[in-house]
Amino acid sequence: MEQCSRCKTTEKPLFRLKITGRLICPSCFIKYYEKKVKNTVLKYGMLKDVRKLALAVSGGKDSLALARVFLEAFPKIKFTIIHLNLGIPNYSDECQGVVERFCRENSIELILYDLKNRNGYSIYDFVDGPFSKRLCGVCGIVKRYLMNKIAFENGFDTLATGHNLDDTVEVLFNLYINGRIDEVARIRPVLSSVNPRIVKKIKPLIEMTDEEDLYYVISRKIDYASSECPLVKGSRMIKRKKLILKIEEEIPHFKYLLLKTHIKRFLPILEEYVPPPSLRECEKCGMPSVDLICSFCKLSSRIERLVESN
Ligand code: SF4
Ligand SMILES: [Zn+2]
Ligand SMILES: [Zn+2]
Repeated sequence: MEQCSRCKTTEKPLFRLKITGRLICPSCFIKYYEKKVKNTVLKYGMLKDVRKLALAVSGGKDSLALARVFLEAFPKIKFTIIHLNLGIPNYSDECQGVVERFCRENSIELILYDLKNRNGYSIYDFVDGPFSKRLCGVCGIVKRYLMNKIAFENGFDTLATGHNLDDTVEVLFNLYINGRIDEVARIRPVLSSVNPRIVKKIKPLIEMTDEEDLYYVISRKIDYASSECPLVKGSRMIKRKKLILKIEEEIPHFKYLLLKTHIKRFLPILEEYVPPPSLRECEKCGMPSVDLICSFCKLSSRIERLVESN
């Protein structure tokens, strides 16, 4: 008879974890997950010297797992949640609703930023234009820029995101095959601040898989936005994630091994040979930028022109 490999209960549901191949019940899984995240946070010193912490929460399973695990594993650490409403029809409002409810139920301060109201355009406005083939890339630029800016302007010194092992390996895979060495050097569990206007970023879920985050939100009965972003269809990111899962079927622990090798073997060498980017103030917004105008402002002026001409 099927039973939990830890407490031996035969009560359903039981999850079979790909990472261990064993069956586990929800209450044993919760203990396993929270301990593993706590160990990761401590191992990389993620909360060292943190004065004011913000969590970027989209409303999906990963970021809500992050918020809940912080409440459970670090009950003394206060944090604020930052949520961006990206203006994607049939998706963004559901995400916002889920995050608002979570904050209300757990008495967490919420900073809400509505892209359409504040900037006059939404991610959906990119669908028909020259960026239609790389919507997730565009969305990534907007999210990274705004999350940092909101955190900085509200006095936070650390921003935690829900990027997990699957996300991180997918990004690494893409950067390596495209030879984007500077960016490879920035993929790390803790990205220290290199400028007073850039807040430190931490990834407490970097060793957790998509599957583990999903089982955690199910086990803890956390309400999350279950619908998929409609813009993700056909995205190269999803194709790469599927390919990586296939590799993992042939090479067990491939994702974790790749991350470990990256952190232990490659990062120390990259740190020596890849200088930190030299930054100046963006002429439009004043935020740190490699070029005269930052990627966000370049993108914004192009889409503002398109939105106005329609
Ligand atoms: S799937 Fe792509 S477009 Fe949709 S929210 Fe995620 S990054 Fe943005
Ligand atoms: Zn059990
Ligand atoms: Zn700018």
